[in-house]
Amino acid sequence: MLKLAFWKKKNLGLNVRDIKSQKCSRCGQFKHIAFYADEYGGGVKGLCTECRKEIEKTRELYPI
Ligand SMILES: [Zn+2]
Repeated sequence: MLKLAFWKKKNLGLNVRDIKSQKCSRCGQFKHIAFYADEYGGGVKGLCTECRKEIEKTRELYPI
């Protein structure tokens, strides 16, 4: 149990660092982004909040 808690904590730290200043694949700006797969299973994209909202109007996005 203790080990699992530690692993989770470590993983969370990694995630936070990873999303800190990555380039959004749509607008090209460095922002806090998250990664999504589209409904076709093809493209995995790093998107900022604004671009995610835009894309979600026309297609489904799945957080990964
Ligand atoms: Zn963007």
